[in-house]
Amino acid sequence: MPAFQRISCLVATVVLILMLGATGPQAAGFQSCIESLKAQAINAGVAPRIAQAALSNVAYDEKVIRFSRSQPEYKTPIWDYMAFLVDEKRISDGRKMLRKHGRTLKAVERAYGVDRHVVLAVWGVESDYGQETGDFFVPHSLANLACAGRRAKYFRSELFEALKIASRGDVALKDLNGSWAGAFGQTQFMPSTYRRLAVDFDGDKHADLVRSEADALASTANYLRSAGWRKGEAWGFEVRVPKGYQGPSGRKRTASLSSWGKRGVTALNGKRVGGGTKAALLLPAGRNGPAFLVFRNFNAIYSYNVAVSYALAISHLSDRLKGGGEFQTPWPTNDPGLSRAQRLQLQKLLLRAGYDIGEPDGKVGPATRAGIKQAEARFGMPQTGRPGTKIYRALGGR
Ligand code: CA
Repeated sequence: MPAFQRISCLVATVVLILMLGATGPQAAGFQSCIESLKAQAINAGVAPRIAQAALSNVAYDEKVIRFSRSQPEYKTPIWDYMAFLVDEKRISDGRKMLRKHGRTLKAVERAYGVDRHVVLAVWGVESDYGQETGDFFVPHSLANLACAGRRAKYFRSELFEALKIASRGDVALKDLNGSWAGAFGQTQFMPSTYRRLAVDFDGDKHADLVRSEADALASTANYLRSAGWRKGEAWGFEVRVPKGYQGPSGRKRTASLSSWGKRGVTALNGKRVGGGTKAALLLPAGRNGPAFLVFRNFNAIYSYNVAVSYALAISHLSDRLKGGGEFQTPWPTNDPGLSRAQRLQLQKLLLRAGYDIGEPDGKVGPATRAGIKQAEARFGMPQTGRPGTKIYRALGGR
């Protein structure tokens, strides 16, 4: 090794040691914050043994803090979002669940008045029907956010709620696994939502949204009912707008169906819409894409995860679970999105082509995006990093 490299190596080592030294007081501050959380939790009503077990070995979690600070640098087009949330597998898995949990779903629908296909669709999107509930131990994530993140007060109170759930014995402490932000279980409720809306539906006196499908499905229905769900009403339906439509749209611009009819909005069969029911016109990809008139129940779904794309995915998946078909108007793109199976296949194709994107898991993160960009460059395509059909085909996918 040349002398200057040895020196720079030594300098780097010294710098590293200095940096590590500098985190000393911070680390001590973090640990004393955790200790004080433990005492506060017990004061707030958490069982001491739960506080002790949950908060005794909390390590600083760089990943949680990074996730809490990162702005999404990449805006997912709605057709990508819909392609992986409402793909063939989620539809066929959902239809299986409709049979497997048919009796429970019907009982939930009777008890809460919420369409069982919508309840099932929420379950399918939130946790892939209970299969994917998150890899973070929620008490540790929330303690990190309370001691080193933004909105510390909010996350501290969520932490105490989470520990109270375990104190009550509704969910075992070790089962509190979820997202980095603290949503957990088959319905991905935040702990405070859990306190307000989780219900016991299988009759064991505990609302266990981790291990009981019945409790999870009923709690989802309870959530939607409390968000204003109206029994027997639809979420909305796909419509057509006149070519070159310049009129109003958006979730908050409600008007009667007949006033939408006067603006030229028709059902898919070409018949003008009419009647006094209030509805909003959604054009989620602009006036050249699919159009929808949505009712109050759409807003109930929207409140679950405030995004139009989310509410539309749940709504559409619920229709598909009932046997309905795809949207009639295609998304305005010549490069449609990929299903989850295709995303996984795309990763394998990238690896095979020599791009080091890590272990294929079907989840498109920074490494996969970087690999897509490199592959796009090789094919002379614009470098978007987006998992679309064009790059998929170019790499040999079908
Ligand atoms: Ca229960």
